[in-house]
Amino acid sequence: MQKKCECGNFFEVEQELHIIVLGHPTKIATINRCASCVTKYANKFSTKCVVCERPILPGTPVGNGIVGEYGTGVAHLEIGHFNCATAATFAGTWGEGKIVPHPALITR
Ligand SMILES: [Zn+2]
Ligand SMILES: [Zn+2]
Repeated sequence: MQKKCECGNFFEVEQELHIIVLGHPTKIATINRCASCVTKYANKFSTKCVVCERPILPGTPVGNGIVGEYGTGVAHLEIGHFNCATAATFAGTWGEGKIVPHPALITR
């Protein structure tokens, strides 16, 4: 089924695309945007997993943990794919550039 994107391009709905997100080849399906708009959107709002360094796209479950830098005494909160970080606390879903928390599901 073809749909018209907000930019005017026509695209095939749910077609599998192979795009580059934050430097990594990524498979994705289109729902409401054409390939070029999906690529722009994914690169604008995704972040990198601290464990596998692959992109975390909007809609992905994420976990967080404290990552310390040895010798510096500096510890900061990092996020990763929930499945990547075995010691992670479920933090919510990655949204448009930030975590969308699910307070009822946070584990301690
Ligand atoms: Zn478009
Ligand atoms: Zn990961």
